[in-house]
Amino acid sequence: MPKGFLIDQDGVMYVENEMIPGADKFIKTLQKEGIPFTFMTNNSQRSPLDAVRKLQKMGIKVDPENVYTSAMATAHFMGQQFPNGTAFVLGEGGLISSLHEHGFTLVQNDPDFVVVGEGINFTLEMVRKAIDFILGGAKLIATNLDPSPRKAGWNNLGIASVVAMIEAATGKTAFSVGKPSPVMMRQARKHIGLATDEVTVIGDTLATDIQGGVQVGYNTILTLTGMSKREDLSNFPFKPDMIINSIADLTLPLPWWEEK
Ligand SMILES: [Mg+2]
Repeated sequence: MPKGFLIDQDGVMYVENEMIPGADKFIKTLQKEGIPFTFMTNNSQRSPLDAVRKLQKMGIKVDPENVYTSAMATAHFMGQQFPNGTAFVLGEGGLISSLHEHGFTLVQNDPDFVVVGEGINFTLEMVRKAIDFILGGAKLIATNLDPSPRKAGWNNLGIASVVAMIEAATGKTAFSVGKPSPVMMRQARKHIGLATDEVTVIGDTLATDIQGGVQVGYNTILTLTGMSKREDLSNFPFKPDMIINSIADLTLPLPWWEEK
């Protein structure tokens, strides 16, 4: 039976622009052994090609097919809900191209959806318009609800912050598609072509990667090179199947590969 990985990028493969030492070796092992893997990222600004280029700069060579983003999951979900619909977008790059690929038209008036993704170019005037559209019946979708890292100099607000503003102004709650939503967890699995019990998630964030994996029944590995620390485990009613100090420490086969 094939086994494979859904691997988070930020905090697992690299921190900002620095590769986690040994992360490249782990990916090379997967490639050599023919073990399927997909990078699964909540960042909706980046296209798969952007993600490939970022990894390439660190000496990690993968294909765009090895990347699944919350922008792809969001556009897929919206296309199922409302084929050939229209959207007003507060977001950039990968989100816009994914919506086009799924048959959406981006409009400035009367959209079916307001979609919020990562970005730095939208204005309060655009937010005001988005609020009017939602009050007029447009559905509010977030590509993810990642919080702000609350670090000075960080490059984006965190969608949770932007969505909080819109929710407060409209009284409507956003539907979030990215991790930990089962929508994204399931679509990423389909992208890699594995069954539920063949998937292991590797992530650095308990509230997204690990919670998402637990919700849909994947095996999960928490790596301590990113957001979540060992002491954070007590705040969650679930635990990962394995905790590692770094992706470089992971050796194959995994213990649960034999059991199933
Ligand atoms: Mg991460």
